[in-house]
Amino acid sequence: MTDSLRIALIAHDRCKDAMVALAKEFADRLRPCVLMATGTTGGRLQAEVGLTLHRYLSGPLGGDLQIGARLAEGGVDAVVFLRDPMTPQPHEPDINALVRACDVHNVPCATNVAGARLLLGALLRDPASGPATRSGP
Ligand code: PGA
Repeated sequence: MTDSLRIALIAHDRCKDAMVALAKEFADRLRPCVLMATGTTGGRLQAEVGLTLHRYLSGPLGGDLQIGARLAEGGVDAVVFLRDPMTPQPHEPDINALVRACDVHNVPCATNVAGARLLLGALLRDPASGPATRSGP
C-alpha cells in the first residue's frame, strides 16, 4: 500500500521569500503531497503559491512543537525548515527540538535552500510519472 508523502514546510521570517520561491519551483510536485506548515509560513504558501496545507500555530507560539509531535508519532516524512542563522529566535528550544526529533526518528530535514532543493528533488518524482508516494504499513 502507498500513500502521499507528508512534508512539513517552515521558514523563519527572513527566509520566507526563499520558501515561497522554492515552493513555486516545486509546486507541481508538492501539490499531490500532504503538506503542513507553521502558521505564517503556511499563510504565505497558501496565498502566494496556492498550496493546500494544514496550518499549525505560528512557530513562536508552538507550531514547531506541534509538527515535532506529529513527526514523533510517524506522521511526517520530510521537513524543509529554512532557518535564519543570523537572527536569534525567541523559540530556539522549539526549533532545536524539531530538528532533534528529525534526527531521533531518521526523518530527512533540510535547513537551507540548497539542501531543500536536493531533498525535494530526490523525494518528489516528476508529476508526469505519477504522484510521489511513500510505502505504507
Ligand atoms: P511561522 O513560524 O511560519 O509562523 O513564522 C516559523 C518559525 O519561526 O518557526
